[in-house]
Amino acid sequence: MTLKKFIQRMPKVELHVHLEGSIQPKTLLTLAERNNVKLPAESLEEMREWYQFSNFAHFIEIYFAICDCIRTPDDFELIAGEFLKYQAEQNIKYSEVIFTPYTHHEHVRFDDQLAAINRARREAKEKYDVSIGLVPDLSRQMRPVEESFQVVDWAIENMGNGIIAFGLGGPEINNPPEIFTETFKRAKDAGLPSLPHAGETEGTESIWGAINALSAVRIGHGVRCLEDSELVAFLREKQIPLDVSPTSNVCLGVASTLAQHPLPQLLDKGLFVTINSDDPPMFDTTLTDEYLRIVDVFDFNVAQIKQFVLNGIHASLLPSEKRQTLEKNFRAEFIELENELGL
Ligand SMILES: [Zn+2]
Repeated sequence: MTLKKFIQRMPKVELHVHLEGSIQPKTLLTLAERNNVKLPAESLEEMREWYQFSNFAHFIEIYFAICDCIRTPDDFELIAGEFLKYQAEQNIKYSEVIFTPYTHHEHVRFDDQLAAINRARREAKEKYDVSIGLVPDLSRQMRPVEESFQVVDWAIENMGNGIIAFGLGGPEINNPPEIFTETFKRAKDAGLPSLPHAGETEGTESIWGAINALSAVRIGHGVRCLEDSELVAFLREKQIPLDVSPTSNVCLGVASTLAQHPLPQLLDKGLFVTINSDDPPMFDTTLTDEYLRIVDVFDFNVAQIKQFVLNGIHASLLPSEKRQTLEKNFRAEFIELENELGL
């Protein structure tokens, strides 16, 4: 099918993808072995079974087990290098990549994590002409909250050294955004944008909290906004982008099936939506697959697909000049591809 060929080859951006959640199963086995970490899965087959999540808490448990396999700066460089190669293979020219520095700091200092990722970043720029912006985040279970200050202060110091925003992830239930008001105020005061997850496993209060207490410039997921018409009106009026990850939502029970996913309703309400893969190998997906799947299920046309991609550019944290250049290049590439494929 022509549209599918178009999707495979079209230039893309991705705004919501986790570095640790992007480790390929084979690489994870290698890391576990070389760092003597015992995983509950010891083969690719067992890994597939291990990645069947019963709920969000179970997902987080596995996520931390994955994080525990990363023990050295070389590990960081390896996973970042592989990640960038996969993005390049999908023609993803620019990605905003979340990682959780505090989870690894006992083994690798924050600075060494960043330096290793930046080595991979520079190499990928040269080799594949793809780039990334880094979004260190906090797990919202973190206590005491004061521990988070060292992470945000470090992130602020490294603006301009690859770090472009500050995030909040982990279990939403019992961990409302307001807990981290002071932490995100520090980021905001320093000009570091806020990119929290919200409205995935918790409802609309969590999204309001992300906006009001954390000054979110985009919402990670946010799909549950539909439960509150006032919130929907606010998000539409302000055009606050939602980083939507359809397969992730299905795997974690936010939507029961892809066909039941609220993506069409979000669009009907005039909300600003981008398409993302979140933790691709953990959900057995890729960004390309996300587009292919939503076309299958919702019958989107080429114009709608292109709009999702352009939304990604517009909602990115790139400086406006770079956004404009990217858009110009993407539009030219779209035309070329459409002509070639007869779309
Ligand atoms: Zn996420």
